[in-house]
Amino acid sequence: MSSEFRKDLLSDKWVIVLNNNYSFIPDTDSKLNFKSLPEYDKNCPFCPGNENKTKFSILEFKNGDKWCVRVIPNNKPYLKVETNLKRYTKDIFTIINGTGANEVIIETPVHNVDFDEMKEEDIDLVIKAYKERFLDLKKDERLEYIIILKSRGVKAGSYIPHLHSQLVAFPVVPPLISEEITEAENYYKIKNNCVYCDMIKSEIKLDERVVLMNEHFICISPFASRVSFELMILPREHKFHFYDINEKELKNLSSLLKETIYKLNKALGFSAYNMILHTAPVKLKNLEYYHWHIEILPKLKNFSGFEQATGLFINSVTPEETTKYLKRI
Ligand SMILES: [Zn+2]
Ligand SMILES: [Zn+2]
Repeated sequence: MSSEFRKDLLSDKWVIVLNNNYSFIPDTDSKLNFKSLPEYDKNCPFCPGNENKTKFSILEFKNGDKWCVRVIPNNKPYLKVETNLKRYTKDIFTIINGTGANEVIIETPVHNVDFDEMKEEDIDLVIKAYKERFLDLKKDERLEYIIILKSRGVKAGSYIPHLHSQLVAFPVVPPLISEEITEAENYYKIKNNCVYCDMIKSEIKLDERVVLMNEHFICISPFASRVSFELMILPREHKFHFYDINEKELKNLSSLLKETIYKLNKALGFSAYNMILHTAPVKLKNLEYYHWHIEILPKLKNFSGFEQATGLFINSVTPEETTKYLKRI
């Protein structure tokens, strides 16, 4: 088994990539077949009929009298929209009270499906719901950043199998995003180009890590993938705000997401995963160097002790190999 250090262009961090083809077989612990669950679960707070278990709907898209997508407030919010933003110091320490928004997007009325089994039109509505919540929340002067995070499976941090995402809006820019923006800015100062645009160009030219591509979007296995089968979806054109997505791009994204999740589920036997939408801070304008994207991180092996100790991820299979594997599906 050989190994190499790879530098991630986007974070300026090193990753150790092992050239170990045997690790393709996912460990059985991470197998979580959502499809073995029933289509409806009377105890699930997100299934139709249990709407009274949630306070109210912030947004609903309906087909006839039935909802297809519902956005609700998180029932245990750690950030609250109703509070007044207060920033203060205590001696040398800075505090902001827990202001923000904490919402849940229920992405389908069906208990046991993921994007791979949903109709593209229904995924369109999910992305439309993301966009509408961004457009509404960005009007709130107190908020600096909005993130959408999906956790699939217990290993990824979610105990409810019904397909949903969390939206969290913050009065600060989260550290990982600030780091990405700083790195992108550093690259821009030297090359006068967006690092993400350059990366897309290079990935298409090399054609070793492109899993899927359509007119407006591309899905790649990042060069310095932190975990096996990590994926990144980006708009092919330079766009920094997710909320600027237009109708045509939205449809392209739905179809690419459906196919991506299909391949991932087939390859990994329904592994737990996180899907995270990274976009520019809501108030920033004319950002030449930052490019919105979606990161998909399957939860397979756990090297967390090592990662926490060193900040170095160890990935047990090369992204070139996983790309080949995913393309065959
Ligand atoms: Zn359910
Ligand atoms: Zn770009």
